[in-house]
Amino acid sequence: MDVYAEQNSSTRGVKVAVVGAGVVGFSTAVCVAENLPSCSVTLLSDKFSPDTASDVAAGIMFAEQFPDIPLERQRRWFGDSFDHLLAIARSEHALEAGVLLSSGCQIFREPPANKTPYWWDIVFGFRFLSERELRRFPEHSFGQAFTTIKCECSSYLPWLRHRFTKAGGNVEQKKLSSFEELSPYYDIIVNCSGLGSKELVGDDGVYPVRGQILKVDAPWVQYFIRDGDGKSYVYPGSSYVTLGGTRQEGDWRLGADAGESEAILERCARLEPSVRRGRVLGQWVGLRPGRRNPRVEREVLRLGGGGGGGGAHVVHNYGHGGCGVTLAWGTALDATRLVRSCLQEMHPHAKL
Ligand SMILES: Cc1cc2nc3c(=O)[nH]c(=O)nc-3n(C[C@H](O)[C@H](O)[C@H](O)COP(=O)(O)OP(=O)(O)OC[C@H]3O[C@@H](n4cnc5c(N)ncnc54)[C@H](O)[C@@H]3O)c2cc1C
Repeated sequence: MDVYAEQNSSTRGVKVAVVGAGVVGFSTAVCVAENLPSCSVTLLSDKFSPDTASDVAAGIMFAEQFPDIPLERQRRWFGDSFDHLLAIARSEHALEAGVLLSSGCQIFREPPANKTPYWWDIVFGFRFLSERELRRFPEHSFGQAFTTIKCECSSYLPWLRHRFTKAGGNVEQKKLSSFEELSPYYDIIVNCSGLGSKELVGDDGVYPVRGQILKVDAPWVQYFIRDGDGKSYVYPGSSYVTLGGTRQEGDWRLGADAGESEAILERCARLEPSVRRGRVLGQWVGLRPGRRNPRVEREVLRLGGGGGGGGAHVVHNYGHGGCGVTLAWGTALDATRLVRSCLQEMHPHAKL
């Protein structure tokens, strides 16, 4: 056995648990399994597609700016995710994975303080709307046009799951009440539990932001329109148009509200009157994992039971709010770097 093979063998069999089966959990599980093949990766979750918040997301690549994360890091998260999804959109997997390019505009009643978002040169063809284009929207005075990506998680999550198992990953259905349940069996825990982190790690900074949407059959609608207030949007996709939405902070209701659906339809018809002719396919509710900033960092937790005596290595990746689909792959790559640094500490002489 040569020296490198011997060193590598010391990380072989390191057991990694990824908690959460939303877009953040499956993206992270795939990144770890593919980039650190010496690890044995198991994804555990109480809910899976189609029952996660990620399944409800419209899935348009678009991000608000988080206040305390360096812009350079946010740009990397967005850019890495865009490149990853663009490659899928251009591949033979596009239809199966539910990933497509989407062109449209975002409009504002009053021009925002920052007219040029940090991701303007990552999406394609970013420009301001002309006076003539704005005449379509008499209640709005400013707009941005661009081409971005739409990632439909009801297709993308099963596709990621397949990619994960192909990379040797295991999947287990389990509701956890504490990471102590995992520490005797796993060397590293990766926490992608979204809103579940409120209970699992006692993070009081995590809160639900309820969102309700409608899906309508309106194949003639091909151009997305988003109101800059984030409450009204028309997002065409592969086989339906998503109409949204609501942003209700602190609201845990998972049931759809018929009155809200009517209000959504009314607001969307003001943006794009032709949607009135669309046949409503259904209404859905998801709870965004709200947090001031996403949490992507390492921690050593003192847990009873295991973790090698010195505490359990935990990598957190949660709290993406309304941008989880947009940032999932970028934060998954960061989380994978953090898992690698845990491995390096556990096995300082291993070549990873
Ligand atoms: C209406 C709506 C529209 C949206 N539109 C967009 C959009 O256009 N673009 C965009 O980027 N984002 C959008 N989002 C936001 C996006 O959906 C979220 O940011 C994203 O889904 C978060 O992913 P996640 O994997 O962190 O969380 P989730 O999808 O909520 O997954 C969390 C997982 O953790 C598991 N879990 C939690 N607690 C436990 C536990 N104790 N034990 C075991 N498992 C546990 C859950 O079962 C679940 O599988 C939208 C959201 C909504 C609701």
